[in-house]
Amino acid sequence: MVVYIYIVLNKVKKMNLVYVWNGDRDKQALAEAVTYFCIEELMPRFSTLDISIEFSDERQAYQSGGCVAVTRREFEIEISDKLSDDDIITTICHEMVHVKQYARNELPISGGVSYRTYEEYENQPHEVEAFQMEKILAEKFKINAK
Ligand SMILES: [Zn+2]
Repeated sequence: MVVYIYIVLNKVKKMNLVYVWNGDRDKQALAEAVTYFCIEELMPRFSTLDISIEFSDERQAYQSGGCVAVTRREFEIEISDKLSDDDIITTICHEMVHVKQYARNELPISGGVSYRTYEEYENQPHEVEAFQMEKILAEKFKINAK
């Protein structure tokens, strides 16, 4: 009985959900692996995240990805289906830094972001962190995946 309850609780505890939509199977598997890796690296104590990732053919060439926070636990990431495997890894790492920022309350979830130029966009503190972290995370993921 005690053992059974422990098993049930343990299952309830680890419940981060990651869904990947569209894209071919290899890209889906890669996206899922990178996302779980980033959760482990950035938010190891979170267990109720709900993240869906969609490969989209509607992204403009200059936009590789985007992230929307539905709530502080539920996220929708969209990435271009034209990216190479390397860029898929980097883009998901970048968007997962934003997931971390939303989940940890470091960023308002209702669109309070404004900028007029690319430089303004790039220099926002949450973007500076995402651009720095995407490289570190991507490198670590690739080393681990070997
Ligand atoms: Zn960003």
